[in-house]
Amino acid sequence: MKKNFDPATEIYKKQQFGEFGGVNPSITDSATYTFLEAETMVDTFHGEAPGCFLYSRHWNPSNKYLSDSLAAMEGTEAGWVTGSGMAAITCAILQLCNAGDHIVSSVTTYGGTFAFLKNYLKKFNIEVTFVLPTDLEAIKKAVRPNTKIIYTETMSNPLLQISDIPSISKIAKEAGAKLLVDNTFTPLIFSPYQLGADVVVYSMTKFINGKNDCVAGAICSDNAYINSLIDVNDGTAMLLGPVLDPLRSSNILKNLYTLHIRMQKHSENAQFVAESLQNDGIKTIYPGLENHPGHELMKSQMNKDYGFGGIIAIDLGTKEKAFKAMQKMQQKGVGYLAVSLGYFNTLFSNSGSSTSSEVPEDIQKEMGMSPGLVRFSMGLDHDIERTYQLIKESIL
Ligand code: PLP
Repeated sequence: MKKNFDPATEIYKKQQFGEFGGVNPSITDSATYTFLEAETMVDTFHGEAPGCFLYSRHWNPSNKYLSDSLAAMEGTEAGWVTGSGMAAITCAILQLCNAGDHIVSSVTTYGGTFAFLKNYLKKFNIEVTFVLPTDLEAIKKAVRPNTKIIYTETMSNPLLQISDIPSISKIAKEAGAKLLVDNTFTPLIFSPYQLGADVVVYSMTKFINGKNDCVAGAICSDNAYINSLIDVNDGTAMLLGPVLDPLRSSNILKNLYTLHIRMQKHSENAQFVAESLQNDGIKTIYPGLENHPGHELMKSQMNKDYGFGGIIAIDLGTKEKAFKAMQKMQQKGVGYLAVSLGYFNTLFSNSGSSTSSEVPEDIQKEMGMSPGLVRFSMGLDHDIERTYQLIKESIL
């Protein structure tokens, strides 16, 4: 673990130039690449010709620039970018598991991840045990001799529970398993690899890109793992082929350079709204509140300067009340009734009937997820007091 790791500065330390000295790297506009010597093509095929590119599904310069910057942000040796967050998650998992293997996963993951683990992996006879990410004893107990992965989200969706990454990493190491962490909610705030995770995955669709204009994902880890993912013979990412379009990559790279300012503002606005909601008697879940069960744990793991994140959940009791409030908020201009997060405008949705609808109702109940839960992804609003008044008028 690097001391005083500062992910935003690590991004800025990278200098990447375009053709003719362009301050932004040039965009790759080719699916295939030519070689002056046939031998070099053979070497590139086997991953032994640094700086050479073979075919865009494997590597292309635009994706390499973005991957290198993401690796710098995480402090990993390497990264690889994908066409969606789900592509990153599914490839990262499938690369490590064979038929007959076992995974221990947090039960409070993003709904798509939950559905993949619970329903899809059955096809490959890969078993998954779901546990609360905050229950270290349960994680330890769930481990079996064939456990290959422990999977969690640094900040869980939608209940915003905080995973104790160093402790879970210890359990994974003792079990000979890899710790995979989805850090989509908290880029820069947490550096999971620095805290002991083996592989960090992102949906870049969210905060990292921040513009809601594309779907993208990323996987960061050591060289050996990333190379195995894109091995031409048996790499999951190479063979399933969820490559990110280079044009999108180059856009996301430019947005990465403003991520630190955006995260600070998202967090500042969320902290203000969460405190105001709580003071006005609304049941509010936000890790920046002192009464949040993960508040102290978050403080012990977070990087300085980026706050407690942009996501808030409030409990309005019933689905009907949640629906009514969300429609009113949209009419008044608080933001949009839409799934997803990390956008410059505020987004809100009822988790139980949207992003967590893949999680069966009995499990939602067991997780402590109320049917009236509304998740907010706070925007970058300049006048957050005005926004709060509009929220208040809509929900009280
Ligand atoms: N991980 C988390 C925490 C998410 O919230 C999402 C999407 O909402 C994903 C992964 C999936 O990402 P994508 O939609 O980019 O495939």
